[in-house]
Amino acid sequence: MVQTAKAKPPIWCPGCGDFGVLAAMKKAALEAGVPTHELVLVGGIGCSGSIHNFIEVNGIHALHGRLLAQAVGVKLANPNLTVVAAGGDGDGYAIGMGHFMHAFKKNASILYIVMNNETYGLTKGQASPTARIGFEGNVEAPFDSILTALSIPAHNFVARTFSGDPKTMTAVFVEALKFNRAHKGYAFVEALSPCVTYNDTYDEWRANVVDISKLPGYNPSDRITSFRLCLETMQSGKIPIGVMHRPSDDPVDPPSLELKLLGDSVGPVAADLDLTHNQAAYQKLLAGLS
Ligand code: SF4
Repeated sequence: MVQTAKAKPPIWCPGCGDFGVLAAMKKAALEAGVPTHELVLVGGIGCSGSIHNFIEVNGIHALHGRLLAQAVGVKLANPNLTVVAAGGDGDGYAIGMGHFMHAFKKNASILYIVMNNETYGLTKGQASPTARIGFEGNVEAPFDSILTALSIPAHNFVARTFSGDPKTMTAVFVEALKFNRAHKGYAFVEALSPCVTYNDTYDEWRANVVDISKLPGYNPSDRITSFRLCLETMQSGKIPIGVMHRPSDDPVDPPSLELKLLGDSVGPVAADLDLTHNQAAYQKLLAGLS
């Protein structure tokens, strides 16, 4: 259910990386000029998925792993809204993996923020899809969202940021929101957001993040270059952050799902629907069944 509610104080553990994401989100919405009444935040399941309760916007608490379906639905119902989906790595990369992959292809102009802490914090620290081998008995290779995102050739904005660098995180969110508001397509931002209670990676991540924009040959409009730079950085034991993909120009055809399906239409929520016509069509359909 969509609701506009007063913001409540966060219930996160003191020091949780999600505080940085919340602060950056608030600043970015202001800087990108998003009016509160036009902003919809769709939260997933998990500690991070409660973020919509802590900011005074229209909010939905979605089903586990299904927040992208609901966020895309909101966008298609009213394309003039700015829609942000936000959840954790367990929500997005495990139960939500099917939706995660297809969101890049669909290319609705929504922002998806995944707060990655490499664990299931809400259920007390089990290994998530991004957990490294050895963490809580994990024997599986960690999933990397950025390499996956870069492998899908769609008109998307792709980035990774770190809660330990709120200034850069805010700037990336601002760029992503502007990309969405121009109806250019889907924006995916992974926020490295440490779980200080069950997997405190702050010091390790602070020491190992590498801003790929500082690397020789950086060109975010070229997927192959970004993929290579990210892979090389990972193979050297570091963590690439920064804007990984930024389309250099607009394609000839409309890039986003809402423009492809709705064109210049205001969408069904704001449209003056001719219910009389619909009722007549419905009666005709029923008559055909009898
Ligand atoms: Fe944050 Fe971890 Fe606490 Fe959840 S358990 S609020 S992810 S620090």
